[in-house]
Amino acid sequence: MARILVTGGAGFLGSHLCDRLLKEGHEVIALDNMNTGSADNVSHLVATNRFELVEHNIIDPYETECDYILNMACPASPPLYQRDPVYTFRTCVNGTMNLLDLAREKEAVFFQASTSEVYGDPIQHPQKEEHWGHVNPIGIRSCYDEGKRAGETLCFDYHRQYGVPIKVVRIFNTYGPRMNAADGRVVSNFINQAIRDMDITIYGDGSQTRSFCYVDDLVNGMVRLLFSDPGVTGPVNIGNPGEFTMLQLAEKVLELTGSKSEIVFKPLPSDDPKQRRPDISLAKDKLDWEPQVKLEEGLAKTIDHYRELMEANKDVQLFG
Ligand code: NAD
Ligand code: UDP
Repeated sequence: MARILVTGGAGFLGSHLCDRLLKEGHEVIALDNMNTGSADNVSHLVATNRFELVEHNIIDPYETECDYILNMACPASPPLYQRDPVYTFRTCVNGTMNLLDLAREKEAVFFQASTSEVYGDPIQHPQKEEHWGHVNPIGIRSCYDEGKRAGETLCFDYHRQYGVPIKVVRIFNTYGPRMNAADGRVVSNFINQAIRDMDITIYGDGSQTRSFCYVDDLVNGMVRLLFSDPGVTGPVNIGNPGEFTMLQLAEKVLELTGSKSEIVFKPLPSDDPKQRRPDISLAKDKLDWEPQVKLEEGLAKTIDHYRELMEANKDVQLFG
């Protein structure tokens, strides 16, 4: 049994990771300042005597005994990471550095949640880990993209300079139950709009693409990376290579929900990447991992989740 610190543990992905690590018999401390997360995401774990939720901002140093540190803390949706860009950058840089210092002191393995956003608006397609990216350093997405790139730099410098064992995952668009309905990401927006027969908001002409991974697949890949051989540092892409335009996604959601919603077109935010699809050869080779859940299946589970929320609480806060 390992003692594992999960920062951002009350968020969407962090809470699913806590579930999984506890199921595997580990002791888990979730560290979160509730910036975009919610204690509700882990309330079912509080009775477990191997789980603790600690309210803390990773921009400030934190000290605890631990064998592994999973750094998931960071606002992840464009509207929320752009709400306070300096905070986002500090979380990515100062926060990651504080946790790397802790890993160094405790001789813990450091796991970093990086992102496909390090590729920016990619000029190679699909994206392999070797692609250095095509990122606007001064745009509205830079606080996140450049923050995450700096986070990777810190991981590799602590690894080379101090020998900290690292694992860096580049996560591609992941969706599923517990995504914050108000955070403005495309899957949560489209489903919540569709189940209420509200207009489905497509930004731009809907021809931009994304590749959507169901949360259970992502967690399987992350756990394999976490416990992989020390030589496997990453960065490694984890995502589902099935690529869809936003128009196709809207049509699938309309079909699966049987909604009467209309599709409406809104302005495309600046620097919105035109296409994104992971090359997952490295994950297949090093982790023997590939996703299992098809988009329709994952969307159906996510639709059920949001319908239950809507039925239980008519005042669910939505985006916009
Ligand atoms: P989320 O917003 O649900 O979770 C992030 C969590 O971090 C929240 O609980 C939030 O309160 C917490 N947090 C934010 N700033 C913090 C700080 N300074 N100190 C402590 N806690 C803080 O988002 P998510 O989708 O679960 O994303 C989790 C991680 O995965 C993020 O680092 C994100 O960049 C990365 N990621 C997610 C995706 C995705 O598709 N979901 C894709 C790429 C990368
Ligand atoms: N998007 C959209 N309608 C929405 C929300 C998002 O068309 O209501 C688009 C957005 O412009 C982007 C894609 O969907 O092209 C994915 O957006 P998301 O914020 O989920 O992820 P990211 O852009 O970070 O990949």
